[in-house]
Amino acid sequence: MLRLYDTRARAVVPITAGQPGHLKVYACGPTVYRDAHLGNLRTFLLPDLIRRIASHSRLQVTVVQNITDVGHMLDDTGLGGDGAGSDAGQLGEDRMLQAAGEGGDALRIARHYEAQFRADCDLLGINAPTASPRASESISAMVDVVQRLLQAGHAYVGADGSVFFDARSFPGYGAISGNRLEDLRPGHRFDGATDPSKRFHADWALWKAAPATRTQLVWDTPFGRGFPGWHIECTAMLLDHLGEQVDIHTGGIDLRFPHHEDERAQTESVVGHEVVRHWVHAEHLLFEGRKMSKSAGNVVLMSDVVARGLSPRAVRLAFLEQHYRSQVDLSWDSIAAADRLLKRWRALASKADATMQSTTAAYAADIVSAIADAFCDDLDTAAAIRLLRTVERSDASDALKGAVLLACEPLLGLGLDRAEAAADVQVPADVASLLAQRAVARAAKQWSESDRLREEILGSGWVVTDTADGQQVSPSQP
Ligand code: AMP
Ligand code: ZN
Repeated sequence: MLRLYDTRARAVVPITAGQPGHLKVYACGPTVYRDAHLGNLRTFLLPDLIRRIASHSRLQVTVVQNITDVGHMLDDTGLGGDGAGSDAGQLGEDRMLQAAGEGGDALRIARHYEAQFRADCDLLGINAPTASPRASESISAMVDVVQRLLQAGHAYVGADGSVFFDARSFPGYGAISGNRLEDLRPGHRFDGATDPSKRFHADWALWKAAPATRTQLVWDTPFGRGFPGWHIECTAMLLDHLGEQVDIHTGGIDLRFPHHEDERAQTESVVGHEVVRHWVHAEHLLFEGRKMSKSAGNVVLMSDVVARGLSPRAVRLAFLEQHYRSQVDLSWDSIAAADRLLKRWRALASKADATMQSTTAAYAADIVSAIADAFCDDLDTAAAIRLLRTVERSDASDALKGAVLLACEPLLGLGLDRAEAAADVQVPADVASLLAQRAVARAAKQWSESDRLREEILGSGWVVTDTADGQQVSPSQP
């Protein structure tokens, strides 16, 4: 049985599906105003791992992952300060609009980064979620939730016309993060002044009244012209797509507060009971000793990995070598080491004996079962990889080792069963970069751009073909 660390329970607990045989997962998704870096992608690997082990255990799995294309403010605490904990910008500004700049088309930018995100996930072997609702297309669901909260007395209209959640109306506040309302004082934990429009310093905006100067990403609603607060989108999309009982909710560790705390307060206040059974958080990725972030200046993108001729799945392998709740410290050396290991395993997989003898099949089944046990043990992927390294070092035949690796592939997602574009073949950096651009163009269904890039790649001496598994390249002359 799958066991995971539940942040609210502060313990590793058995995971049972509320609806027998069907596991429902809600994953906080990307804010699509810039490229996702490897740290973001590591967090998005978490629901993929849960899905793989749950499917292996014969559960039907539904994964819903939102796309934040509106409303993620630079200050989401409502307490002043940059609650999103990151990079420069003015308080109270929407990240999407800031990225678009004056006169820029915010949704066009959002679609570009969403397509890029999907392409990066494909490269990393993260299967597409069952549904990826966009915030900008879920406004009516959000308005409905805000109205229900107003009717139930959990929300009020503030002095500036914005709608705020009344934090003190939800007694369970703080269960995920341990942050108690009385401790969240301006000037204590956070610097900055409290918004004078609200009644209590820890209340937060469900719906923000728009200034007349804001011309994009605004909607007319019963409570005026405005735009959603960040947390309301997850409450609305979760209820809309998964209903009132969700087994697992995932996100990065920094989302415990305020995002998940506020989201839980909203969701439970609107339906009147606990909705999410288990909250599961992934630790941060460090790169060369510091948390990967724009402000630390150590952002690495998937296109950087491809441009260095390293396989994207080597990054996945490097992630799997560490536990999701530990702060992995990656470096170019560790990715290159994972790349070498991946190449050896792919070479073995290509020698797999297709017609397995019963003894071989039994050995492979035993290893798969041990790997699944490690995944079930709070996703101990590090133990799984150690076990496969032991198999590699054993004196079994290459055919048998290859068969074992292939049998584990559905859990690992390392692409051991195929030659991967730009991964096994040493393509030059400029061609790798063109391939990455083409993957993005294809994800955005920009076919003429995709064809143009194919020609450019051909001009560099490489032929690209599209297969069910993505792009494959080979030198145009033998
Ligand atoms: P964003 O697209 O900014 O909303 O962030 C997407 C996800 O990435 C969130 O769940 C964050 O918690 C997570 N995240 C941000 N920085 C890192 C990092 N260095 N390592 C792992 N996850 C991160
Ligand atoms: Zn969320």
